[in-house]
Amino acid sequence: MLKSSFTSPASGARPASSTSLAQASLVTFCASLAVVFALAVSLSLYFARGLDSTEQAQGQSLVQKSIEAERRLLQLTIKDYSFWGEAYRHLHLTVDMEWAYVRENFGPALYDDFGYQAAFVIGPSNRSVYAVIDGKYETVAAADWLGRPVDEWVAAARGLADDEKVFTALTSLAGTPALVVAAAITPSTDPTVQADDRLPSVMLVVNRLDPQRLETLGANMGLQGVRMARPNDATAAHASLTGEHGTAFDLQWDAVRPGRQMIIVVLPLIVLTTLIIFGMTWVMLRRNTRAARALDGSHELLRNSQAALAQSESRFRDVAEASSDWIWETDCDGRVTYLSDRFEAVTGLDKAHWLGTCIDERVDLPDGSLLAWLRSNDGHCNLTTECSYVDVHLHRRTARIAARTIGVQGFRGTATDVTEEIEARRRVEYLSRHDVLTGLPNRSQLRDYLESRLENALAASQSLIMLTIDLDRFKPVNDLLGHATGDRVLYEIGARIRQCVRSQDIVARVGGDEFVMVVAGPIGHEEIEALCRRLIELIEQVIEVDDQDIHVSASIGIAVSPGDAAHAPELLRYSDIALYEAKASGRGTWRFYDGDMNARIVERRRLESDLRYAIKHGELRLHYQPRFRISDGQMVGAEALVRWQHPQRGLLAPDAFIPIAEDTGLITALGDWVMNAACRQASQWPEALFISVNVSSKEFQNGQLVERVKAALQRTGLTAARLELEVTESVMLEDADNALTLMRALKALGVRLAMDDFGTGYSSLSYLRSFPFDGLKIDRSFVSRLGDSQPDLAIIEAVIGLGRALSLTVTAEGVETQEHLRLLDSVACDEGQGYYLSRPLDGASFEELLLTACH
Ligand code: C2E
Ligand code: CA
Ligand code: CA
Repeated sequence: MLKSSFTSPASGARPASSTSLAQASLVTFCASLAVVFALAVSLSLYFARGLDSTEQAQGQSLVQKSIEAERRLLQLTIKDYSFWGEAYRHLHLTVDMEWAYVRENFGPALYDDFGYQAAFVIGPSNRSVYAVIDGKYETVAAADWLGRPVDEWVAAARGLADDEKVFTALTSLAGTPALVVAAAITPSTDPTVQADDRLPSVMLVVNRLDPQRLETLGANMGLQGVRMARPNDATAAHASLTGEHGTAFDLQWDAVRPGRQMIIVVLPLIVLTTLIIFGMTWVMLRRNTRAARALDGSHELLRNSQAALAQSESRFRDVAEASSDWIWETDCDGRVTYLSDRFEAVTGLDKAHWLGTCIDERVDLPDGSLLAWLRSNDGHCNLTTECSYVDVHLHRRTARIAARTIGVQGFRGTATDVTEEIEARRRVEYLSRHDVLTGLPNRSQLRDYLESRLENALAASQSLIMLTIDLDRFKPVNDLLGHATGDRVLYEIGARIRQCVRSQDIVARVGGDEFVMVVAGPIGHEEIEALCRRLIELIEQVIEVDDQDIHVSASIGIAVSPGDAAHAPELLRYSDIALYEAKASGRGTWRFYDGDMNARIVERRRLESDLRYAIKHGELRLHYQPRFRISDGQMVGAEALVRWQHPQRGLLAPDAFIPIAEDTGLITALGDWVMNAACRQASQWPEALFISVNVSSKEFQNGQLVERVKAALQRTGLTAARLELEVTESVMLEDADNALTLMRALKALGVRLAMDDFGTGYSSLSYLRSFPFDGLKIDRSFVSRLGDSQPDLAIIEAVIGLGRALSLTVTAEGVETQEHLRLLDSVACDEGQGYYLSRPLDGASFEELLLTACH
């Protein structure tokens, strides 16, 4: 066992980890930050309080000063009045009312100009001789008005008379502070007045400091809301004034409190700053802590490495036994010297069976011997190769060998069983190149095959024949009998086609019911035709699935390389075109590709894009072919027949473009146009006439037919009963259930349904019974043969009888001669339509016909 170079402290106490150091420094920092924060807050509070108390002190002195100023003003004012010869002459001993009150020398003006509420003159005998209260003369004694004796003030005033000083006092009048001035009335220095020796009269003026006055006084000093103190008003600042006999007056005002305002601004700033600093530090420290933790982790790792080393050997043993791999060793001659226990579990073989034998006797390398491979890799380590061996069940399995050289002793390595993995890989490869259902090559393998074969064939100037085989009428098998049956039919067909090819040829399934066969030439035209005939015969043989006899057929398109095309995609496309022609010419047959086919397809494509444009840009026209009652020759309605006014090709008949519209899905747009134009036109006709519109079987499949018909009726205002829809048997052939549902919904709208081209299909009679038709139209092929053959008249007669039994209106199409009409009349056919009666007419001609018919 290795000795670890990492030594731990002898005491066993672990050194402080970087993590805990980082955590400790975080704590320290937080604590310091808290102290700084607390300090900043207390200092701010301290300064704020200082500011507030300074403000308070200033306020107090201002309050005192304002009262003092008021007192001084009062003193000065009264002094002017009292130490004045005129006043002595008119107020002392006898009061001259004229002088004092009327001419406002003493009294009213004190109130009006200064707001002093009361002015008294108190005579030498201390009696009030004159009083002006709130600017009005009143006979009231000063003591009575004031509610207290005034002798003391009068005496004080007289005492100050010689010095021409006045007495003032701050007193309380029913709880309101008031400034009182008392001044002796003396002639002062007036030489025209001689003073008597009686006690001087005294004037007494009261300035009551009511709330309004206090407020004004304060405002003059810049203090707001100065008032008498209210108890428990903590928001205000206080000042105390000392009045007469030590009476205290508590005043208060609305304090500005700058300190408090400062705190409101500063405190949040302090908090914010602290939070930011804290946040930033926290992020930094967290990073440090993480780094520290990593450091601690590595320390921990180092510490643990010793123990880990101790465990590794036993773990290796465990792993060796637990894994699916087995471990082997050989000497340098390739003799097996060691196999781990897993060997027996994986291979089922006895170790002893292998030990001591040469490894090359036991395993096979795809290209050579394992020992040679081991030796060639001498010096390299961990190279891998795959080899196979036989297990206890004699199954060949695959192992992936990893090996390294162990000096001169030999080789050692692991063997991983990869049999399943390789199987899965093979399966995926197979699936990616085969059709699961039939087991035939798929399109991707066909493409690869074609590419390589075409190259070789071209080089060897050999021909390749491609046959595209498409099943006819396979869709109904799937739809009617279910997909499981469809799958079995496809499997069977695949097997039958495969019977026809030689080993060097290929058959691939490239689509739902489409197969491609590639046959290498040289092979003559007749031989190919024989092959096609054989293929179709084989495919047409009845297929039995779950006691059901299933018949399918096939059409084949053929393209030949290098004659038709030299490249795979073209060859595929051409055989497809040939297939299309084969199908168009009646199915169950084959066609060789020729250049004209391509031209026809190109032509069709052009027509398709022209048609798309035509529908949108009003190139379609409607013609109307009238239908007549045979018994009296009355017109009963008309069939709408679409035309295409092609800008280059002229007026095209529907046969030239309806199939294209059906193949490309344009039929819905075309059908909509026809439906709307026909209904709009018919809504202008006399009420008795109906309009008959042809509906393609594709319109039944595309869905929304009922909604479209309803919309057309609503849009044009045509009564539903005046609309007849002509449908052909193919509607019911393709999906009978769906057709029945739709027809019932159409009947519910109120429209009529007629079966068109009756007699050309196979089982029209049964359909007539089970579908809600109102009428049937006998195909013109029957009518055109009338007169030539008696059986046709018999058939028509039978159909008419059937129609009557089912309450259907029977119409004969293709009435071309008078004879036709006569014969139809003789068998009591209801209605007729044909060139003899009227050709299809354009809108204007039809209107004209209507006019003449009505007159
Ligand atoms: P159809 O429904 O059998 O229409 C009657 C066809 O027979 C019309 O040919 C009409 O011109 C022709 N015809 C009428 N009377 C006589 C006669 O006395 N002798 C002969 N030989 N032919 C006569 P058209 O207009 O070329 O229409 C051909 C087919 O195109 C129609 O056969 C119908 O299946 C289809 N079609 C016409 N218009 C529309 C349409 O708007 N929508 C759909 N889906 N198909 C239409
Ligand atoms: Ca028709
Ligand atoms: Ca018809």
